[in-house]
Parts: sequence; C-alpha cells; structure tokens
Amino acid sequence: MTSSSSSAHQPLPADNKVVIFVKRPGENNAPTIDCFDVVPIDSPSEKDITSDQCIVRTLFLSVDPAQRCRMNPSTGVDYLGPYEIGEPVDGMEGVGVVERVGSACTLEVGDLVTGCIRLWTWTKYFVCDSSDLVKVNLPSSRNFSPSVILSCAGLSGITALLGIRKKALIDRSRPQTIVVSGAAGSCGSLAGQIARIEGCSKVIGICGSDDKCTVLKREFGFNDTINYKTENVSERLGHLAPEGIDIYWDNVGGVISDDVIRAMNNEGRVVLCGQIAVYNTDLPYPPPLPEHTTKIIKERNIQRERYLVLMYKDEIDEAVAQLSEWLQQDKIKVKETIYDGLNAAPSAFVDMMNGKNIGKMLIRP
Ligand code: NDP
Repeated sequence: MTSSSSSAHQPLPADNKVVIFVKRPGENNAPTIDCFDVVPIDSPSEKDITSDQCIVRTLFLSVDPAQRCRMNPSTGVDYLGPYEIGEPVDGMEGVGVVERVGSACTLEVGDLVTGCIRLWTWTKYFVCDSSDLVKVNLPSSRNFSPSVILSCAGLSGITALLGIRKKALIDRSRPQTIVVSGAAGSCGSLAGQIARIEGCSKVIGICGSDDKCTVLKREFGFNDTINYKTENVSERLGHLAPEGIDIYWDNVGGVISDDVIRAMNNEGRVVLCGQIAVYNTDLPYPPPLPEHTTKIIKERNIQRERYLVLMYKDEIDEAVAQLSEWLQQDKIKVKETIYDGLNAAPSAFVDMMNGKNIGKMLIRP
C-alpha cells in the first residue's frame, strides 16, 4: 500500500479543461482549429478513484500526424479508432505526474509517468488505472525536461531507432547514403541522426523551410538538405548524391517520394514510416504508387515494406534505454516546439500538419 502526502488530500486546482472533437474536416480537407473545442471541466478528486487508480496531472501532450487519420469516420487501420464527434480527444502519448493515488495503487504521488495510445486524453487532470501507466525516470546526467520522454525516448524516437535497425539494413562495410523526408520533424530528425550513428556516411534531409535546413545541418549534423518548397528535389538529389541513394526514410509519400525513389540504387531500402502528404485525402494507407515508381522498385529490387513501430512491442524497453543513453552522451539532439495551454491545442495540431514545428510538437497544458 502506498501512502500519500498531506497535500494529497487537498482538492486539485479547479482550472481543468478538455479538448473536444466537434467536426470532421472531411476526408479531402486540411484540418482547421474549429474541428476542436476546448471546454472547462471539473478536476477529479480522490472520491473519483478506485483503489488501484490514480489522478495524473499532464505535463506534456504529444501532437501526432496519426491523429489526422482519427478525424475521418474510419481510420483505415485496426489499431486506432476514429474520434467521435462530441467526445474528448485522446493523443498518441503523454507524460505527467501522479497527484493522487488509491489505496492499492502501485504508483506513488510524485511519480513521473507516461502512457500511449487511447490513454492520454487532452486534459490537465484525469483519472487512470495505474496498470495503464509506465513509471519513468528522467536521464540523470543533466537537467532534462520531462518533455524528452516524448521528444526522444517516446514513440518518435522508438520509431526512428527500430525503423533504422529493422528496415534500413545499413551495410557498414561500404559507404551508405540515406535520404530522410520530413527530416526536421520529430521522427525524421532522429532517424537521420541514428542513421549516422548506425553507419550511414551521408545523410540528406528534405524539409519545408530554409530555417529547418539550417537546423538540420548545424544542430542535427545532416550533410546536406533540400527545401522541397523552393528547390527541385530531383535535380538537387542528382547534385548531392551522384552515387545514388541506398536508403530512403519516407515520412511523407507523394511526389517527393517518387523523386527520391527514382534516384535510388539497386537493392535499396525504403523505410515506409509515414505518408503525411496524403493524410488529408481519402486514399487508403499506404496509398498506391504511380506506375513508374512501382516499376523502379521492382526493377531495382528495392525493399519497401510497411513499417509500424507497434509491431515491435517487445523491443520498446531496449530501444528506450538506447535512446536515453545516446541523449545523455549528447550523441543525439532533440528539438521541441511547445504550445502553452490547452486552448492552444487545436492550433498546435493544425500547425504541425502545416509544418510549423521543428522537432517534436508538444502541448504544455
Ligand atoms: P513531424 O514532427 O515530422 O511533423 C509533421 C511534418 O510533416 C511537418 O512538420 C511538415 O514539415 C511535414 N509535412 C506536412 N505536410 C507535408 C506534405 N504535404 N509534404 C511533405 N511534408 C509535409 O511528425 P512525426 O515525426 O510525428 O511523424 C512523421 C511521420 O512518421 C508521419 O508520416 C507519421 O505518420 C509517421 N509515424 C509513423 C510511425 C510508424 O510506426 N510507422 C510512428 C510515428 C509516426 P515540412 O515543413 O518539412 O513540410
């Protein structure tokens, strides 16, 4: 049995709010902030929890492209259901601190906790079964913010690490060139850095602004960058990687990916991580490729299998340990774009979809 501190019997602050899903954008439309509403709700109290439950105060909420698929009536995937109109929005993951515990709860007041899919409602205080939460410790070497649980040692980092290890198949015996699209975002910035650690000799990032290009080179150690909004991707790839591309980390799909695949070498590998360029459409996932791209993939024997991090649940703990170690050793760097207050949550989501984030998009309620 866990004892709670004396402050644990005080009522929690009454400033609780929750983000509600109020409108589908339509399968071929970009999401807008009026798809969401933010409404005041009561903070839970000790009488609301059973013996093995606790009350969590959210510190940071993760903002993820997969939420766009949940705004459609059908997500197209079996592991994620659609958001229901009028219901609270839940995110892919969050990090928080335990504020109140039931008498048989395995957690203690003050514990830092995380949890993923379907669990983390976009609210400040919520009741949760303790068995759905994972207690986490921040890397001890420096004064890390709890946000690194999401920006490095969470879904994005795990996706990047396991994607590189399982699907990129880096051949350390010879020079390897990787191209990363969506490179300045959360998964992409980590995938590029991890590819370098794991043996790639040249890392090229594709992203949507000159500022992002600068960050990729100066802070994340990418060799070169392409701003797909102002530069011709095919021409730039020919110039930057005349040796051809061995590995393509694909976060975006669409014409950018067609251009990259056209520049790939025989026996190349595409890590099919995501296809954000088509998330505002009604195309199935993964969307069909143009005929000429399919032909290249076949003729050059390029591997391109669907990659889903959740297929590797057993390897998550090891991945988190590796990411934490690299973070402490300064071998990988993370950037975060943080929006303050739950009222800013709709903008955070819409802005992430429009490329306003560098690194991980987070909300601090
Ligand atoms: P990011 O942090 O990368 O944010 C999304 C970025 O996508 C934006 O910043 C924007 O950057 C870019 N973008 C948006 N629209 C377009 C477009 N039309 N064309 C090109 N780029 C666009 O998000 P995440 O790191 O969280 O996710 C990256 C990808 O990884 C997504 O596709 C996501 O679905 C996928 N994913 C897959 C997982 C798996 O298990 N396979 C797990 C987690 C994520 P810019 O300024 O460069 O346009």
